[in-house]
Amino acid sequence: MSQARFPIDLHMHSTRSDGDRPPARLVEMAAARGVRIIALTDHDSVAGLEEARAASEGLDVTVLAGIELSTWRDQELHILGYDFDPLYPPLVEIVAHFAGDRLRRAAATLDKLDALGCPLDHAAVLSSAKGVIGRPHIAQALVEAGHVRAVEDAFRRFLRNGGPAYVPLFRLPSEAAIALIHEAGGVASLAHPGVEDADHLIPALVEAGLDAIEAHHPAHSDAQVRHYQALAARLGVGVSGGSDFHHDEGRASLGDCGLLDLSALRGG
Ligand SMILES: [Zn+2]
Ligand SMILES: [Zn+2]
Repeated sequence: MSQARFPIDLHMHSTRSDGDRPPARLVEMAAARGVRIIALTDHDSVAGLEEARAASEGLDVTVLAGIELSTWRDQELHILGYDFDPLYPPLVEIVAHFAGDRLRRAAATLDKLDALGCPLDHAAVLSSAKGVIGRPHIAQALVEAGHVRAVEDAFRRFLRNGGPAYVPLFRLPSEAAIALIHEAGGVASLAHPGVEDADHLIPALVEAGLDAIEAHHPAHSDAQVRHYQALAARLGVGVSGGSDFHHDEGRASLGDCGLLDLSALRGG
């Protein structure tokens, strides 16, 4: 496996959310590519941390606690949390609430698909996720049942935001997410701001305690990377970075987007 471009990758997903590799495989992949520090940032879940840390024993890879929280501040925003106590009780409670809400949402989506003439085996779909259930699991089931040709068709025709089978998910207010990560002893960063088109919201998030901006993300152009680095410097916050790796067909492989030095995260 070829060497990664960065020794630090702070954004990736495992089978505990919508990635296709189990946490242990991600750690082995990091080791094989020379990535020394990773954070597993599954959506609204820390369920993969223990497995990742166990897999890192004996390898030259440090696994930071990580999470990508689904939040809301006038629009959907993803807030990344790093290096927090994963057993902090209010965090454990919120994560459990998210998991329950995803099940509720999946069941409601399946009801809508029934009504739209695309019935699926509800029990089979709900048990198909190894971690938290998401729209990709339902999209896959729609393909397997022959209702659509490909996962992209499932999203375009039914599951996209505002689509006929779309059901909104619980979102934590962005400020509450930042406060929660802080109370758990961690650092909060705004994920892929260039994708969210949310620059106007960043000063208020910094006011609420946001520690960093994810300047380095594979969806960002070089100009956007420079823009967010400059914005972070102007606002006195750090920058984070990572590949947002989900599977081999994504924009960047593990470690091909990230940081050279962890001190950047805290504005160093
Ligand atoms: Zn995201
Ligand atoms: Zn992500």
